[in-house]
Amino acid sequence: MPNPSLLILPGDGIGPEVMAEVRKVIDWFGTNKNLSFDVTEDLVGGCAYDKHGTPLTDETMALAQKVDAVLLGAVGGPKYDDLDFSVKPERGLLRLRKEMDLFANLRPAQCFDALSDFSSLKQEVVAGLDIMIIRELTSGIYFGEPRGIMDDNEGGRVGVNTQRYTTNEIRRVARSAFELARKRGNKVCSMEKANVMESGILWREEVQWVHDNEYQDVELSHMYADAGAMQLVRWPKQFDVIVTDNLFGDLLSDAAAMLTGSLGMLPSASLGAPQENGRPKALYEPVHGSAPDIAGQGKANPIACILSFAMALRYSFDMGEHADLVEGAVEAVLAQGLRTADLLGDEGKQPVSTSDMGDAIVAAMGGN
Ligand code: NAD
Repeated sequence: MPNPSLLILPGDGIGPEVMAEVRKVIDWFGTNKNLSFDVTEDLVGGCAYDKHGTPLTDETMALAQKVDAVLLGAVGGPKYDDLDFSVKPERGLLRLRKEMDLFANLRPAQCFDALSDFSSLKQEVVAGLDIMIIRELTSGIYFGEPRGIMDDNEGGRVGVNTQRYTTNEIRRVARSAFELARKRGNKVCSMEKANVMESGILWREEVQWVHDNEYQDVELSHMYADAGAMQLVRWPKQFDVIVTDNLFGDLLSDAAAMLTGSLGMLPSASLGAPQENGRPKALYEPVHGSAPDIAGQGKANPIACILSFAMALRYSFDMGEHADLVEGAVEAVLAQGLRTADLLGDEGKQPVSTSDMGDAIVAAMGGN
């Protein structure tokens, strides 16, 4: 078997700092588990623009299509704010998502015990929380036509966006949700607004169709997205996997993420269709941005990026035990009381640096 291949794109701001800590975890697997990855590193975002005049070169794009998984840090920064829209750092990321056809965005909301007092919700509501939101990422109202701002022919203007979903788009993301549920708590809750939107009616019918024809062993429920938002903050532990469209998923996944505290803790995955080797096209990245306010100061929390690599182990390489090992090490380090600055309230404790946190996680994994 060839080594699994990874394209690492650290990007801008704190991206390279947090990615350096992921490299330590990758190296640990080489030394201790005889598991080596073929790693290529390249540029994306502002740093790619600085060197090549584009936030993602065709060569890097081709590499991303070839490897088993892409791991990205973050892109952007004030230096690039005035660039033309077509070459802004974010365009590099959007091109990756679009050309790799990454239609399922996985956002776990997991509360580590040691941080359960960090949430804005009561400890008993979030302690032990482990849910997964799957957001459809390539269709819906952010892409539907017609769109634009037009004259309304009565002296005013009208802004138009179109919510549009096809059978195929709904079925493929529903399949991702059911597959994932089988590896977790075996429950899917689908959210839409079938009470007021035809696209919501179709969404509900198609998710039900996939369930009845292919995944009867998984428990399926449906909820209106507004009720779902309420339930998410009332009693989030009732959910296992939530699947929803692009717009509702954008909102619900941000709300769910904040149940668990800091942006510096949140990983994500964006998956496409399974390829011939059974692995989906995949991009893993922390939810946070390039954090220019703390870049270059050793203050960034590397955990979101390290947990994104753990997601790659689980979802691209089917190495659930290895992913558990990384997540367990994060849990252990937090339980020891180690905190980067973003995880400290007003407790007056001393924060650890980005690289100290990475070293501690690697040490907690054991071995050499
Ligand atoms: P941000 O996520 O970069 O930062 C928001 C706040 O959270 C900041 O105070 C930052 O210091 C803090 N923070 C973020 N990640 C952290 C970490 N790992 N450890 C400790 N603290 C952390 O969002 P922003 O400030 O709105 O955007 C900054 C830049 O990042 C912009 O150029 C934006 O376009 C870009 N951005 C990129 C992505 C991406 O690459 N996926 C996502 C969001 C924003």
